[in-house]
Amino acid sequence: MKWTVDENGYYGEFGGAYVPEILYKCVEDLRTTYLNVMQSESFRSEYESLLRDYVGRPSPLYLAKRMSERYGCRLYLKREDLNHTGAHKINNTIGQILIARRLGKRRIIAETGAGQHGVATATVCALMNMECVVYMGETDMERQRVNVEKMKMLGAKVQPVIAGNRTLKDATSEAIRDWCRHPADTFYIIGSTVGPHPYPDMVARLQSVISEEIRQQLLTHEGRSHPDYLVACVGGGSNAAGTIYHYLDDERVKIILAEAGGLGVESGKTAATIRLGQTGIIHGARTYVIQNEDGQIEEPYSISAGLDYPGIGPIHANLALQGRASVLPVNDDEALAAAYELTRLEGIIPALESAHALGILPKVTFRPEDVVVLTVSGRGDKDIETYLNHFTNP
Ligand SMILES: *Cc1c(COP(=O)(O)O)cnc(C)c1O
Repeated sequence: MKWTVDENGYYGEFGGAYVPEILYKCVEDLRTTYLNVMQSESFRSEYESLLRDYVGRPSPLYLAKRMSERYGCRLYLKREDLNHTGAHKINNTIGQILIARRLGKRRIIAETGAGQHGVATATVCALMNMECVVYMGETDMERQRVNVEKMKMLGAKVQPVIAGNRTLKDATSEAIRDWCRHPADTFYIIGSTVGPHPYPDMVARLQSVISEEIRQQLLTHEGRSHPDYLVACVGGGSNAAGTIYHYLDDERVKIILAEAGGLGVESGKTAATIRLGQTGIIHGARTYVIQNEDGQIEEPYSISAGLDYPGIGPIHANLALQGRASVLPVNDDEALAAAYELTRLEGIIPALESAHALGILPKVTFRPEDVVVLTVSGRGDKDIETYLNHFTNP
């Protein structure tokens, strides 16, 4: 496939594996084994049965009638919000922990920003009886108390990070440092299509169950397996990669991705990496990065913690540069309005991240016969306080 990773770990000019010497062997071991492991019968059957019986897959594909009327198309929602732990992230953590076990690793580390990936990792570590350390910036720990308590209840050690701004990128650096200290027995579970090769490809493949299901479900609902449009939000890009994976080579399918505009792409308070970003190295990969003139990574901003990341998966950087995907910024206020609209029209409270995908709908003109599939990456339980603070009187 022309849009997936090449044998050197690149998507066009993006990707690669820029890691310190001490990690070279870990990354290289993973690179040479991940495909064999993932394609083995033992992995496939264990992964599939956990997705079915533990996560609750397949997630429904729901024809949203009132929203369809509002936007003049046939709008289907891919309901990743209904998964165990409330989002798509568990598809990836289950897969990676099964790979870690097959590589003989005994200890799991992860980084987390809002805590969603941390909870999904702590969950699978409890399930598999593995030691779990989650690095989290102290600022984020204060903002996301409930997720911190969940991780502790699940048996994980939450390691506060006090470097830098004490947020996601600082937690990521600490996790990489831990990995350097324990390369032999530790597996680093990365939460999105980011990091050094082969992580972006491994995560995209694990999340590709989303588009595999969409194909079958659309065939049942519409008598054809391809939509006219796919819509998803991008932070690092994993739910988007899973949504589009099996359609990348199908030019009939238009891809629209929402990145977090924050207070506006020109405001200096934004996480619209593709719109603003210049090429740089972040988290072991070459991709678009929000940086200043000196090449220092700048603190991004979005109302949505899951989209508040200064980089973007290399697969999406390439899709955007080549014009295969359109990437539109959706600002905080547009996402909030979209979340209220879905709630009032369909009785579904989406995660703030997913609300950015919904914020695309008013920006596109559809034809009535267009089939649009939009991934609702997660549920809004974690965001209720934010919603109530912004709309005391809707
Ligand atoms: C983490 C998260 C995201 C952003 O991550 P991607 O890797 O871009 O998918 C989106 N939605 C929800 C609900 C999340 O928890």
